[in-house]
Amino acid sequence: MDCREILRRYYGYSSFRKGQEEIIASALEKRDSLVLMPTGGGKSLCFQIPALAMPGCAIVVSPLIALMNDQVAALKANGISAEAVHSNQDETVNRDNLYRASIGDVKLLYISPERLTAEFERIRAHIPVSLVAIDEAHCISQWGHDFRPVYTSLSVIKEAMPDVPVMALTATADRLTRADIAGALGLRDPFVWVGSFDRPNLSLTVLADPGKKQRLRVIEAFVRKYRLDSGIVYCLSRKKTEDMHKSLLDMGIKSVCYHAGLSPADREAAQKAFVNGEAQVVCATIAFGMGIDKSNIRWVVHNNLPGNIESYYQEIGRAGRDGMPAETLMFYNYGDVIMRRNFVEDSGQREINGEKLDFMQRYAEASVCRRRILLSYFSEETVTDCGNCDNCRNPRKRFDGTILAQKALSAVIRINAREAMNTVIDILRASNRADIIRKGYHQIKTYGAGRDLGAREWHNYLLQMVQLGLFEVAYDDNLHLRPTPLGMKVVKGLQRVELATFEPQEPWMNKRKGSEMKDPVRQLSPEERLMEQLKRVRMELAKKENIAPYMVFADTSLDDMVRKRPLDIDAFREINGAGVLKTVKYGKSFISIIRKFETGKAGMPAGTSQKETLMLFEAGMEADQIAAIKDVSVPTVYSHLAQWAEEGKEIDFRRLVTVEELDTVCSVFSKDPDNAYEILKTRYSIPNHIIRIARLEASI
Ligand code: ADP
Ligand code: ZN
Repeated sequence: MDCREILRRYYGYSSFRKGQEEIIASALEKRDSLVLMPTGGGKSLCFQIPALAMPGCAIVVSPLIALMNDQVAALKANGISAEAVHSNQDETVNRDNLYRASIGDVKLLYISPERLTAEFERIRAHIPVSLVAIDEAHCISQWGHDFRPVYTSLSVIKEAMPDVPVMALTATADRLTRADIAGALGLRDPFVWVGSFDRPNLSLTVLADPGKKQRLRVIEAFVRKYRLDSGIVYCLSRKKTEDMHKSLLDMGIKSVCYHAGLSPADREAAQKAFVNGEAQVVCATIAFGMGIDKSNIRWVVHNNLPGNIESYYQEIGRAGRDGMPAETLMFYNYGDVIMRRNFVEDSGQREINGEKLDFMQRYAEASVCRRRILLSYFSEETVTDCGNCDNCRNPRKRFDGTILAQKALSAVIRINAREAMNTVIDILRASNRADIIRKGYHQIKTYGAGRDLGAREWHNYLLQMVQLGLFEVAYDDNLHLRPTPLGMKVVKGLQRVELATFEPQEPWMNKRKGSEMKDPVRQLSPEERLMEQLKRVRMELAKKENIAPYMVFADTSLDDMVRKRPLDIDAFREINGAGVLKTVKYGKSFISIIRKFETGKAGMPAGTSQKETLMLFEAGMEADQIAAIKDVSVPTVYSHLAQWAEEGKEIDFRRLVTVEELDTVCSVFSKDPDNAYEILKTRYSIPNHIIRIARLEASI
């Protein structure tokens, strides 16, 4: 079958995304490839389609069991035979799956790297391997942020099966890691595809940490704004994750908590609740998300600073995988920087991790287009600002901040650079906190010199001064602020300073009071109401089949339904993501909602069932499979197809009757047409539905 036809039939998509066709073609030519695409870019199709187009079974190496099971379930939902082998399921199931792969019953076999290594000889001997796809291929690189030693043993694949094409896929963007992958796997002259890492649908915002109360309000605002969808709050530690989770529960928000300290059962339950849509928010450490393929995550909040750009980008990348708009927000404060520095000190690779953290910090503090910073980190050229980050949306006005800087610098100098930022702010704002008085800070000349500005403003300006290089932060000495030589020039009036005006720019809050939300509960538009109903149906169908809602249909498909409003099964087939199997299995449920919405009546047009049968038959399914999918009898399937043939549709009868049956029917009819049915039934045990088709074929 041609690849476009596979795309349409199984996945219900009408065109390939950029790169997919070239990558698929290289696999079909048995060439190795290295595929670099961001999360959500469409990597899976790149190996799934060649797997379907080639004889044999494709092996897919994936490090995450949850992800494997999800992908297998999603493939099955599209009518593709896929199975998984890993240590988290019964050994008899594993044996069975391997056996079925060896006899050609499985087109895609997902396997953990441990298992592949352990069973390699057996697999090589018994399974006709068409292709090996290695997902999350960056795990093979020691330079990456996610090195897994077991991945290094995957080099055996190319050594032992040099003629089988290997496709390495990753969403990792850092160049050191990229360069490593092909070599470590022993790829030969690979076709390399580097997709754009831009995800223009993700809005980017970094907010100077407004304190816990405000942070919770911002999260609440997201939950309300996207009440039919979900979001992730990433936190730095297990404890912070639990705290956040509890606070959200207290606010009546359906949240679950996910981190490495939970038992596997608890983790699975949390993940399931989130994927099923029972929980709207998951509070998680970085351990969460790798295995999540949920497409309707509409927002991601970083409660804390991530350790590097790669992780940050991967984490925000969990939102909006369906390509529709999604919002990301990071809270930034200095406390996190210290925590992260400590992690770096304790990590095996101090230098490289330190640099990565520096870059992350620069990103957080930047006042230019954030997307350009990200893309330049991934070595992509950009010439224009993105218009979808906080710095683009609110380009900040600038003013002469020399006097402000002088005040701050002189305060720091007078206390001998022995305090961190918050205390410096307190001094400038004339706090009479006990320790300030005890240390005699109220007697210095600059005490209260910055009374006219709020603490948040000062915080923001001091951060800018650090960025501008007027201060340095003593990471090795309690984060004390120290004036730099440039700072000293400013104090002496030898250097002017320009600062960006501080504006509390978060759209969620009123400017001054900072607490009330603008847009509490608004009326739903008709489109949104329809969407809500479609989501409910999706949820019911998913529950019935015990799969995740997005496996029934992704949000993009529901969106397409709202746009196109299909009223019959043919129109439904044109919906993005509606392959043949899903059209037949789920089409009616959605169509009847849409019909009700559009016309007030829910019934289906006559002939729907016949059309479904034809679709499945034309997609290559046999009568008994069709009967099972539609939950009707085999004679009914035959009867549908006979009706089509009678209406002039070309039906491949050879798939419905054997040559012997045809011969028998013909000869009996020619001898004794009046009693033919009776004779065929009693003497030859040929049932009516076969006779009907045979007669059509023989035109008798
Ligand atoms: P990745 O593995 O790169 O993170 P996926 O393969 O999971 O991304 O694809 C992300 C989403 O995009 C999935 O919902 C997938 O079905 C969809 N998708 C992939 N290719 C296409 C295409 N050609 N047309 C429409 N949707 C696509
Ligand atoms: Zn921008």
